Amino acid sequence: MDKKSLAPPIVFGKNPSMATCPRCGFRGQTVVNYEANANTHLVALFICLVGGICCCCIPYCKDSCKAAKHSCGRCGSYVGTCKN
Ligand SMILES: [Zn+2]
Repeated sequence: MDKKSLAPPIVFGKNPSMATCPRCGFRGQTVVNYEANANTHLVALFICLVGGICCCCIPYCKDSCKAAKHSCGRCGSYVGTCKN
């Protein structure tokens, strides 16, 4: 049997979750920041085409269209991202 010793990848959700910081080793709740990503720009482009230029800024105001970026609760290092 060749069992892989690798830890399962951490699946991040939209909410703060338990994770171990790769930098300082702190284990605890992550801090979530919402950030515009490529998906946000695509949504904005689509809305712009359909609803006009006035509406294209909407996805930038909505957290649901952004990626949730998880950072370490102690040192602030990037830990992972939840993509939609
Ligand atoms: Zn840390």
